[in-house]
Amino acid sequence: MLSALEKYDPQIFELLTQEKARQSASIRLIPSENYVSKAVMQATGSCLTNKYAEGYPSKRYYEGQQVTDLIESIATQRAKKIFHADHANVQSYSGSVANIAAYASLLSPGDTIMGLSLPYGGHLTHGWKVSLTSKIYNSVQYELNHDTGRLDFDQIRDLAKKHRPKMIISGATAYPREIEFDKFDEIAREVGAYHLSDIAHISGLVIAGIHISPVPYADIVSTTTHKTLRGPRGGMLLCKEEHAKKVDKAVFPGLQGGPHMHTITAIAVALAEADTNEFVEYAKQIVKNAKRLADKLLESGFDLVSGGTDNHLLLIDLRNKNVLGKPVAKALDRAGIVSNYNTIPNDPSTPFNPSGLRIGTPAVTTRGMKEDQMDIIGNAIKTVVENVDNESVLEKVRKEMLLLCSNFPVPDHFIIPPKN
Ligand SMILES: *Cc1c(COP(=O)(O)O)cnc(C)c1O
Repeated sequence: MLSALEKYDPQIFELLTQEKARQSASIRLIPSENYVSKAVMQATGSCLTNKYAEGYPSKRYYEGQQVTDLIESIATQRAKKIFHADHANVQSYSGSVANIAAYASLLSPGDTIMGLSLPYGGHLTHGWKVSLTSKIYNSVQYELNHDTGRLDFDQIRDLAKKHRPKMIISGATAYPREIEFDKFDEIAREVGAYHLSDIAHISGLVIAGIHISPVPYADIVSTTTHKTLRGPRGGMLLCKEEHAKKVDKAVFPGLQGGPHMHTITAIAVALAEADTNEFVEYAKQIVKNAKRLADKLLESGFDLVSGGTDNHLLLIDLRNKNVLGKPVAKALDRAGIVSNYNTIPNDPSTPFNPSGLRIGTPAVTTRGMKEDQMDIIGNAIKTVVENVDNESVLEKVRKEMLLLCSNFPVPDHFIIPPKN
């Protein structure tokens, strides 16, 4: 029997089939990506995509909210419980939008924000120059310590005292070490700034108690829902009770219209999944795998920014290998390993072809891989880096990675039945 999609749009069906095959037949090391469960996928592809629900539970602008009110309330309750937060808002369309709403809730245009510079691992929305956030607000950026590759709280404090930002942002998109949210909070208090903590990458680790939580400290915490948290693509805001009304108003009607109820439904499911021992085990294994991969790479003569990892990701400094990030990422892709090239602190090269490679272990951990498989992947990375132009070597690695993939199949996450 043909699926509706196959029948109606064979061209798109074929492309989805190809993407499904690509996702299952490659080693996914992009640290922000993951594989959701079948339950999350089912909720995402549900009839809730057909419903407008502007407003909040029991305060909507459209009728027919008997079910949506319940679903959103459940998602909010689960978020509050799992993060021990006073208040949660689950409507943000993405992590970027959640950050912009967080600014809008407590700041006025022209106020100063201070976040980690993008080439040092910060996110675009932390005030990077091409982001709208640096145009609406006056942006001051801190960097990592050039020698240690770590957060430098003396520098952050000095900058904060000099520029007196109204909001300091903690959190990163490419930082392999634990982030001391308490220290950020101390500095924010010293200069009278609000503290926004963006845990987009690490929220799954925070839930599992493997990374300290910013919730007791920060005024507002933002996160995506699709990275280590392993839910649908979306964003979420947590905050102290005193900011609850402002945060809600900033998301709707300040920034967004109708919330994506199908996504909120899937967020509710993902939060239930995250509230289990299995999830804690998965999160612990992510870090074990990252540490093992780090050890393997160090053993093979690689340099890692900050010398290792405390979390789910590694930043490889490729300078001693005399290759740049982009050709390595492309060669890895041909060899069945998907990663992304990345800047390293004080990168001598350009952001379009930087000196680093960012890899992470959430997705391979979801597939069930453990330390032994990290050794295999570490060896494969070494071989590829030393043979970026040798197609026959890359082909050999690809076969090896295919075998590894077939031993650790992707949890069946697509609703579309396979062809035939
Ligand atoms: C991924 C990420 C975001 C943005 O999330 P999107 O859903 O892609 O908009 C924001 N902040 C940090 C730190 C991130 O890593």
